[in-house]
Amino acid sequence: MAKKLDGRLLADQLQEKLKQEVSEWKHKGKRLPKLVVILIGEDVGSQVYVKNKEAAAKKIGFHSQVDRLPEETTEKELLRRIKEYNEDQQIDGILVQLPLPKHINEEKVLLAIDAKKDVDGFHPLNMGKLFIGEPDKLPCTPYGIMELLKANNIEIAGKSAVVIGRSNIVGKPMAQLLLMADATVTVTHSYTKKLKELTKKADIIIVAIGHAEFLTADYIKEGAVVVDVGMNRHSDGHLVGDVKYDEVSQKASFITPVPGGVGPMTITMLMEQTVNNARFE
Ligand code: NAP
Repeated sequence: MAKKLDGRLLADQLQEKLKQEVSEWKHKGKRLPKLVVILIGEDVGSQVYVKNKEAAAKKIGFHSQVDRLPEETTEKELLRRIKEYNEDQQIDGILVQLPLPKHINEEKVLLAIDAKKDVDGFHPLNMGKLFIGEPDKLPCTPYGIMELLKANNIEIAGKSAVVIGRSNIVGKPMAQLLLMADATVTVTHSYTKKLKELTKKADIIIVAIGHAEFLTADYIKEGAVVVDVGMNRHSDGHLVGDVKYDEVSQKASFITPVPGGVGPMTITMLMEQTVNNARFE
């Protein structure tokens, strides 16, 4: 039976540390960190993510502001706000919740955020730094996964890792972080042939595709480490990952649950990168 990689527990511990640090700043009269989140439209998933981010910021004790804007908000208005927040010395982090409505150019928006305040790590400059091996702000999900593996003393150097999914926010940066940690990495996607042959040889498997319970026990070798990034809602509303937990956990050595695995770590890394900006001011 696999050991659970408890993201909730680690996230709570890391958030508690941040909370103590911020509380010390408060006592010393130092300015508190501030995160601004911009949410456009009514996407239910996005609303939940933003609420969770707001709650974490509140728990840690720093300022957060959420701009909830209507679906018809223009790109010009969004860019105007970003410019204002870039110039505001009191703001440490700016996050525009994705996906954006179709009439807004995502690339333009991500580029408009001051790369130093890009606590989500999606700015092309921060992505570029990551891919030349000089990381600054990191995409929070892969960053959180690396911290979770590290905290559980999981060896990465020399191991073979398969990342399933190649999105800019999870798969690609995940592969790069594993590569930087000296794993031998294979990135797979919907055109990959004979996926099972690849995953069955892997020591570490990261699944980020958005297909409920896709990865079954016959995809993995005995003792593999399995990280499930997926968040899929069943028709009855409950959350499941991309991994068939019950059977894969019988064969893996370590596994992340959904919920309580990667999700809480993602939010915590966002908080950490915001606090870091204020810390080194
Ligand atoms: P995405 O942008 O939709 O990308 C999905 C990737 O999976 C694509 O690269 C796609 O390949 C690949 N794929 C789809 N079906 C596949 C298959 N059968 N075999 C192999 N590869 C396949 O998704 P994302 O934004 O990376 O998110 C993935 C999942 O993680 C979603 O469930 C999302 O909700 C979740 N997520 C969770 C967190 C968290 O904090 N826990 C954060 C972000 C995302 P192609 O490129 O060929 O289309």
